Amino acid sequence: METVYRDIWCVACGFDTSARLTDGREVYPNRPDLATVPFWICDLCHNFVGCHHKTKKNRTQPLGCISTPKLKMLRNTIHDLIDPLWKEQGWSRGKIYGTLSKELGYTYHTGEIRTEEEANKIIEIISNIIQNARHSRSV
Ligand SMILES: [Zn+2]
Repeated sequence: METVYRDIWCVACGFDTSARLTDGREVYPNRPDLATVPFWICDLCHNFVGCHHKTKKNRTQPLGCISTPKLKMLRNTIHDLIDPLWKEQGWSRGKIYGTLSKELGYTYHTGEIRTEEEANKIIEIISNIIQNARHSRSV
């Protein structure tokens, strides 16, 4: 099979890397269930990103930039903060993302966070939004 490359932002490298299309056999050798799932890998730092592989139309469309384990952890922290708000507490998901985008000055997507600083800033903004909401409810 011909090797396929695509320019994707790599968080660890700090530039658009020439990512190589691979599959689960390379990045998750102990997960036979992921063997045929596509991934984009950076051959310079060996970090990788998954794809929207469940969509039939473009199953190699990357989920976002190529992240680092540390940034993945921060993204999970962000989801742990945001998700209960709209899943359990009746907040509007669109409104949360809208407020975040407004505060940041650009359209917010968790998958597109490029630096740890950015992730930390987002965590701070969300924490403030939650605190303000609690405060105004208790008044
Ligand atoms: Zn890289």
